[in-house]
Amino acid sequence: MLKVLKFGGSSMADATQFAKVRSIVESEESRRVVVVSAAGKRRGGDHKLTDLLYLCHAHLKYGVSCDGVWQMITERYLSIRDELGLSTDLESEFAALRQKMDSGISQDELVSRGEYFAARLMADYLGYEFIDSARWLYFRLDGTVDQEQSYEALRKLAQGRRVVIPGFYGVMPDGAIKTFSRGGSDITGALAAAALGADVYENWTDVSGFLMADPRIVKDPEPIERITYSELRELSYIGAQVLHEGTIFPVREKNITLNIRNTNQPQHPGTMIRESFEEGEITDDRFITGIAGKKNFSVITVTKSGMSGQQGTLRQMLEILEKYGVNVEYIPSGIDSVSLVVASDKAAPCLYQIMGDLQKEIKPDTIHVTEDMAIVAAVGRKMAYKPGSSGKIFATLGENHINIRMITQGPEELNIIVGVDNKDFENAIRVLYNSFVK
Ligand code: ASP
Repeated sequence: MLKVLKFGGSSMADATQFAKVRSIVESEESRRVVVVSAAGKRRGGDHKLTDLLYLCHAHLKYGVSCDGVWQMITERYLSIRDELGLSTDLESEFAALRQKMDSGISQDELVSRGEYFAARLMADYLGYEFIDSARWLYFRLDGTVDQEQSYEALRKLAQGRRVVIPGFYGVMPDGAIKTFSRGGSDITGALAAAALGADVYENWTDVSGFLMADPRIVKDPEPIERITYSELRELSYIGAQVLHEGTIFPVREKNITLNIRNTNQPQHPGTMIRESFEEGEITDDRFITGIAGKKNFSVITVTKSGMSGQQGTLRQMLEILEKYGVNVEYIPSGIDSVSLVVASDKAAPCLYQIMGDLQKEIKPDTIHVTEDMAIVAAVGRKMAYKPGSSGKIFATLGENHINIRMITQGPEELNIIVGVDNKDFENAIRVLYNSFVK
């Protein structure tokens, strides 16, 4: 059994958090590969090391002294080292980096040092070997990861050993350091898990798993115990803030279980994510796994009598939106009408051109745009087997005087999506949560 563990910034913030990480790692023999983020915030108002490093680079770029920021960065890592009584030689590393900064360092290389130093310290503290991600995580020229080459390189380097790996960065074909986008250590962990054929990828953070709804809208939402990869994709697409979007693919592809855990509450089982679950594994009888949504959609509705009998109208409409680079999110349709639901911010700059083109090419009877629509999705793999799920959702919203302006359901019956006025958005989420979860 092999578990790959990734610890986020809050788990790496100070010596106390390092101690928690060590006790988690040591509590199971299978926890042999550890991927870390840079030190994060210790409390509200504090700074993430990565943010300080970006700031430091901005100072260098504009020729302003970065001494103050640099001191904050070095002091943070030195204090972790000293409090833990480690002997990692950070001073000479810092001096070498400082020299490089003076002679011109890329932004990616400088910010990647947050993960690098964190991993060096953690390796020392755990007595694990340090593997620099510049030695195995290979990017292609187009910025994508060369998985085959990377997996092979990591397998050779790790070879069944206990190792600590810095998250967030890898190396370009010319040897330059490149980072993922923000939050990218999640991806490094997923790639390491896939490369080494882990049984479980544990992603340790500061919440006990994914929540069933946004805690800014619903008070103390319940955590999700088990969720499939498809449900997770639905929820994150529609706005739930979960992992970095590049995380799922490498682990899903290799059928690795992903487990979100809380470093500050290690006994909590967190959220389990898998391709599917056996009947017996499901402990609750909720048919909704999670609720999420987004505001600010526009609906372009075109009506034309006889449209249903004509071929090619929908294709023409979609081609027009494609021409303007506007993604169509949903397509609810009637017999002689079709609506295209698009994100308002994407459509706004070219809305008049789109309307003009639709008018010219489709020659519709009417065409109109409704603004300020929000989308709310109830996601749950069990909905497909429960007759009446959608009826209950509509009835609940109706009883609470929330006007439903659109309804769609994906063919896999994994979700039910309703369009409501922007002003009803939060209320719709609360009403659904309270009636189906509480
Ligand atoms: N430290 C990086 C960031 O703050 C990457 C990560 O933590 O995942 O974005």
